[in-house]
Amino acid sequence: MEKNMNKDIERILFSEEQLKSRVKEVGAEISRDYKDKNPLLVGILKGSVVFMADLMRAVDIPCQIAFLSARSYGLKASSSGKIDMDGDIEYALGAHAQGRHIILVEDILDTALTLYTVSGRIRELNPASVKICALLDKQVSRSIDLHADYKCFDVENEFVVGYGLDYAQDYRNLPYIGVLKREVYSAD
Ligand code: 5GP
Ligand code: MG
Repeated sequence: MEKNMNKDIERILFSEEQLKSRVKEVGAEISRDYKDKNPLLVGILKGSVVFMADLMRAVDIPCQIAFLSARSYGLKASSSGKIDMDGDIEYALGAHAQGRHIILVEDILDTALTLYTVSGRIRELNPASVKICALLDKQVSRSIDLHADYKCFDVENEFVVGYGLDYAQDYRNLPYIGVLKREVYSAD
């Protein structure tokens, strides 16, 4: 059966144009703050790929990128409360995290369990600093005390997709961010 991704979206929250201009602003902020620091941008797969691709081009100082794989959601639309991390973290970072200024690039901060786990693992590698850059910050009360140092937008506690964010691996390629119709995932 052919799928029409757009018809599964209840409403658009951030258009392609809004995303583009806000990501540029955040990239400029990072460029100012990290001048002469040669930061390492570490994206959390897979949700951060689209954001990372745009963000890194909005950063106009020397930097490098790396990716780590971490999952909390599986196929569902709510957190499983457990984080799986794939692969060797030192290998993924090129074994060069020590002494580096690391910026974790994440699609959305929800319970913050993912970034709490990942940043804890990274701190064990003795970086010079670890900061968090989130595309979206979900407005929920968190038991984990962790905040985004950089963020593009706040979102309400709704399930959003597009611009890298998926539902069961679909919708990542939508160029905008929208709220997924509840009927699409309520069967789960
Ligand atoms: P946390 O560990 O902060 O609870 O969850 C972070 C991860 O959950 C994100 O990287 C993302 O993969 C997923 N997530 C949380 N909220 C949403 C949402 O509204 N939409 C989508 N597509 N994924 C979400
Ligand atoms: Mg995800």
